[in-house]
Amino acid sequence: MSEERSLNFIEEIVEGDIAEGKHGGRVLTRFPPEPNGYLHIGHAKSICLNFGLAQRYGGQTNLRFDDTNPVKEDVEYVDSIKEDVKWLGFDWAEELYASDYFDKLYDFAVVLIKQGLAYVDDSTAEEIAAQKGTPTEPGTGNEYRNRSVEENLQLFADMKAGKYPDGAKVLRAKLDLASPNMHLRDPLMYRIKHAHHHRTGDAWCIYPMYDFAHGQSDAIEEITHSICTVEFIPHRPLYEWFIEKLELFPSKQYEFARLNLNYTVMSKRKLLQLVTEGHVDGWDDPRMPTISGLRRRGYTPASIREFCERIGVAKRENMIDVGLLEFCIREDLNKTAWRRMAVLDPVKVVITNYPEGQTETFSGENNPEAEGGDGSREFGFGREVWIEREDFMEVPAKKYFRLSIGGMVRLKNAYIVKGESVVKDAEGNITEIHCTYIPESQSGNDTSGINVKGTIHWVSVEHGKTAEVRLYDRLFQVEDPSSEDGDFKDYINPNSLQVLHTAYIEPDLANAKIGTPVQFMRKGYFTLDKNSTDDKLVFNRTVTLKDGWVKK
Ligand code: ATP
Ligand code: MG
Repeated sequence: MSEERSLNFIEEIVEGDIAEGKHGGRVLTRFPPEPNGYLHIGHAKSICLNFGLAQRYGGQTNLRFDDTNPVKEDVEYVDSIKEDVKWLGFDWAEELYASDYFDKLYDFAVVLIKQGLAYVDDSTAEEIAAQKGTPTEPGTGNEYRNRSVEENLQLFADMKAGKYPDGAKVLRAKLDLASPNMHLRDPLMYRIKHAHHHRTGDAWCIYPMYDFAHGQSDAIEEITHSICTVEFIPHRPLYEWFIEKLELFPSKQYEFARLNLNYTVMSKRKLLQLVTEGHVDGWDDPRMPTISGLRRRGYTPASIREFCERIGVAKRENMIDVGLLEFCIREDLNKTAWRRMAVLDPVKVVITNYPEGQTETFSGENNPEAEGGDGSREFGFGREVWIEREDFMEVPAKKYFRLSIGGMVRLKNAYIVKGESVVKDAEGNITEIHCTYIPESQSGNDTSGINVKGTIHWVSVEHGKTAEVRLYDRLFQVEDPSSEDGDFKDYINPNSLQVLHTAYIEPDLANAKIGTPVQFMRKGYFTLDKNSTDDKLVFNRTVTLKDGWVKK
């Protein structure tokens, strides 16, 4: 965390609390995901904020799974969330579950019933919605609202005992049917769900609502600063009401603007649809905004933390350009990624004056941008090399400084070559370029006196290996697919994945490891994909070297 920047508004609140000696100066935050999907870059903002605050002020952070809706939740999600938080570089103090508190929450509900502050309602969901009124008209009560404490206690116990089917009854807080805040018009506390829970099994058939579980879970853990996104502002009075009526530890809720990123969607419901309907290759598809997708794409934890630091923490929502995320990964990888040569769209060059059967070994720096250098590696050279098709023009355009007939270019870390002739197939496509080389022009030992303007990368036909290369583009064609007419999936970019089946790579890349970034010189940053096998290497392009979208 850079110390120069000014404090964000939550840090100011925390510093004020510490100065006042509130909670003895203690800071305990929590990150409370619902295990109903994989974490995405928006969650990373919340994680960096919650864990970052604790780190900055000598506090701690709990990881609490908000597992109150068994129908949508699964251990697969719990495991992925833990993996992602750790990968981002954070350690939690305690791993907790809202379901750990089901007994306590039940007792809290009984306390409220006894105070006449909660009642069992037999209305259907539709009836309850209709009786709630509108923002301008107060709600109307019903006969259940006047049930006696004894009857409510009995009915609630019967709900718990499984005497009623799903939807037959709910427990509601008796609060204020005329409140301008709709969330306070007798909100639901419990609903009946005969569903198996991934942790509590079949012990329960009633489950608490978010509003009845969240604040009390915070209070049980003695969370000092409960930080959530702005859509929970209208829930805050309810959060405080339950804590006050139950006389619990006074946890306080603070809201910040959620992260919105363009050209993607971030709701877990939508991400789940992309996965289940096969629009992407799983939650960790490198085009997904999930942490696991970004990891597979080649993003580093440091780049994501830097992104979260740069976007800052504010109260007003806005749309962040995905270009900023790409900027952060480029900055990071420029310092760390080793440079290698890879030819993605190959055409063969034959150096006709290079002796047949001869080879040489050249070397190149691993990373000229790294402080103090980062060592070097060797690679073979021979009479035939692959170059990019775009690095040759039979008749050069103006200011084209790459290879052409009669034109000269340097093969990186090797020799200067001159284009002599081409071989074409029946359709007129170039299948081979014939060149001559200047023997005195070897890099590092050039006595030729020839100056060339261009340098291109290449891979030796004899020494190179093949790989599949996957190029990714934005998953959506529009900035905010969720706000467009029709289904958000209508705006999926049909060209978001381009697979190059036969690319040629430097021999050394056969030792690449999953998760280790590499720069393919002039082509971008890449990382080995988990689909790779010993026989077939697959590389994902993390990001191009420059922002290709700026000019468009
Ligand atoms: P859904 O997508 O289903 O609405 P959610 O994104 O709210 O779910 P949770 O598991 O409830 O998912 O979120 C855990 C925490 O992450 C919450 O505190 C939530 O406020 C925060 N969070 C979720 N999305 C974002 C976002 N886009 N930006 C910042 N914080 C977020
Ligand atoms: Mg949520």
